[in-house]
This record gives sequence, C-alpha cells and structure tokens, in this order.
Amino acid sequence: MKQILIVLIFLTSSLTYAQFDNFFEKSTLRMDYNHSGNFDSENYAFTCFKKEPFWGGSFKNLLEDFEYGKYFLKVTDAKTGNLLYSRGYGSLFHEWSTTDEAKEITKSFEETVVMPFPNKKIIITLYSRNRQMIFEEKFNIGFDPEKTGYYTKNDHSAPVIEIQKSGPPETNVDIVILPEGYTDSELGKFVSDCQTLMKQLFSYQPFTDLQNKFNTYAVWTPSQEPGSDDPNGKKEVNSAFNSSFNTLYSDRYCMTLSHHKVRDFAANAPYDQIYILVNTDKYGGGAIYNFYSVSVSGNLSSPKVFIHEFGHAFAGLADEYAYEDSFENMYEKGVEPWEPNITTMVNFDKKWKKIIEKDIPVPTPATKEYTDKHGVFEGAGYLMKGVYRPKQDCLMRSFKGDLFCKVCSKAIEDMVRFYGE
Ligand SMILES: [Zn+2]
Repeated sequence: MKQILIVLIFLTSSLTYAQFDNFFEKSTLRMDYNHSGNFDSENYAFTCFKKEPFWGGSFKNLLEDFEYGKYFLKVTDAKTGNLLYSRGYGSLFHEWSTTDEAKEITKSFEETVVMPFPNKKIIITLYSRNRQMIFEEKFNIGFDPEKTGYYTKNDHSAPVIEIQKSGPPETNVDIVILPEGYTDSELGKFVSDCQTLMKQLFSYQPFTDLQNKFNTYAVWTPSQEPGSDDPNGKKEVNSAFNSSFNTLYSDRYCMTLSHHKVRDFAANAPYDQIYILVNTDKYGGGAIYNFYSVSVSGNLSSPKVFIHEFGHAFAGLADEYAYEDSFENMYEKGVEPWEPNITTMVNFDKKWKKIIEKDIPVPTPATKEYTDKHGVFEGAGYLMKGVYRPKQDCLMRSFKGDLFCKVCSKAIEDMVRFYGE
C-alpha cells in the first residue's frame, strides 16, 4: 500500500530525555531485511529481529529532524500511534537502482535498521523518497518485546579495543571500526591503522574542535587472507566481510554486500557510525549516509579521501563536483535535493541563504573575486548545470584545499550536536 507521508508527521511528536526510559531499554533492536527491486520498483522482505547489547545513540534526540537520506525509519507506539524514534539513511540498493543494470534486471541487497530496544509494542515503518523527494510508505511491521522467540541474540565475543574514549555513548558520537583483510597476525597493524585513521580525521576542522565528542572502538575479527576482492585485478580473497573493489562496476568503489554480517560484528560495541578499514594498498573506498564507510589502509597517507567520504556517511553531504560530460539524471529539475550542501534553488531558503553576504550576486560567478566567499556557484552533484554549491572549493568538491565550506562544516557540527546531547 502506497501512502504519501506529509511533512507534518515529522513535527507531530517530540520526546524528551526523561521519556527514554518510559519506552526503551539501553540496548538495540535491530531489524534485518532484504531490499530488492530495479530502476522503477522496490520491495522489502523481512529477515529477522535481533537484540544487541548496546545503544550508541542519544537518549534525548530520538527524532531526526534533518530529514536527510533517501530512506526513512519511523518507530511508533503501537497503542497511541505516537512517534518515538526516527532516522534517515541511504543504501547500496538505492545507488545500484540508479544504474543501467537496474533497467535490465532485479536484484536484492541486505539492509538493516536499528532503534533503541522498546519495552512496549511498537510499529516499525520504512519510507522511500520518490523522484519529487516525497517520502512514501513502503513497509511496516509490528514488534512486541513480550513475545518470546521473536528475536535472537548474537555472539558478541569479538575483542573490542578502545581507540578513543571521550565519555558515555549516549552523549558522544560512537564510531566502530571493523577490520577487513587483516590476517591473524595483523592485530597490531589494524590497531595502529585505526589510530592513524582517527588522528588524521581529527587533524581537519571542524573535527579538530569536536574531537572530545567522539568515541572510537575497534572490533577485532581476522580474515583468512589479506586484502579485498579485486575483480579487475582477477584477485579473489577470503576475507571477513567479503568486500570487493569494482562495486557497481566502478573500479575504485570498494564496498561489501554482506551488510548483516557487518552489523553482527559492529554490535560488539556501541555505535552511531560503522567504518570498515580494508587492509590493501589499492586506492579506493566508499560511504553512504548512515549505512557504512569503507576506507583502505593504503589511503591513510591521503586523509582527505576518507574525510570526504566520512562527510557523506556521517553528515549526509553531497559531492560538490560536476563532470563535463555528465548526463546522469541524478537530480530532478524543479525538485530540491535533500543534501544540505547543494541546491537546485527550488527551496533555497531552507539551505544556506542566510549565510550569504548582501552584496554577493546569486548565482555567483566562479571568478577570483569570489574565491573565498560563500555564494551560489553552479556545478555540483555531478551536474554542470542546474545544481549549485556554496563555495568555489570545499573538501566535498576537491582535495586542493584543506577546508570544508561553512555549509558542510555546520552540517557536521549539527550532526555531532545531535548525537552528543
Ligand atoms: Zn561544502
């Protein structure tokens, strides 16, 4: 049943800190499902519920009002219908569904949503944006914590190494790092790579100033063989999370389809963000908003790559670059994209309009005069025309400079605040 979700629904309920205990335990309810479909249709098939030992999220900010992401999760009280928890996210299925292959065949991908573990019966509803960016209801299911045998518990015996601890998980951003292609004897290298990764993340603003709002945990699970699958290099590796280069037929795009296994291991620690670190020198990686990030150990010497990728996964930032020959139909004319750092000018008031100085022309010419100014520069979101970015250069556009533009910085700061209150 298709049902259009009106924007108002996001404003109908708010939950205060004190109410967390009325509805939830300090652990996680996880729902695994398969997301299948093609270019113009999608289906959801429930797999299972799992109870995980930690809750990494805020006790206070349970409702996500950013409205980022292609998909949206809503948890409501089954009795009253009150909204208790919500979160936006993206997925590999969505990216694949925009490819030419999705016009030919139907495919299925593993996905998971997590929420604090309820102490009352709840309804879980999943939404997907249509081309006009309106959320449509796609799937719903009830969950009753009283029903025995309805959920399973995982094995959570993988060793956890604390890389950085700033405070309790509910008032900090919790990153869990998983090792991919590190063999039995490489625990030391994995921990050292995690430390390097975090040190470099915190050497760039706004992360430097926000470092004491992050916890980082490394969960150890060795792989049989080092590295990652590389179909173009005719290399197949027996690794913990079955990651592969050439994901979606893009050589440097290194992702894993084993999403449920990723979640199994991530649950050994409290987490808000999952990071998979691949032990290889081949350049690559990838990241999707509230899904997971992948970086390779060979990238550790080029930190801007994974800082850029983390911008996607953590703060929902869009790419601010454009291709000369891009004909991709990524952003619909007449529709405002959800990402905070690009605009089609359809609803620019909602974006960064208020930070632009009075004498800056809109759109803003990409000339020397405006190099350091914030404005509205044409060319972003892979398109040369019709999509605009806040600054001529930013870490979401190129690696020439060392800075995020003000809009991207603010989006990161807002997200840290959201998890950190
Ligand atoms: Zn930016």
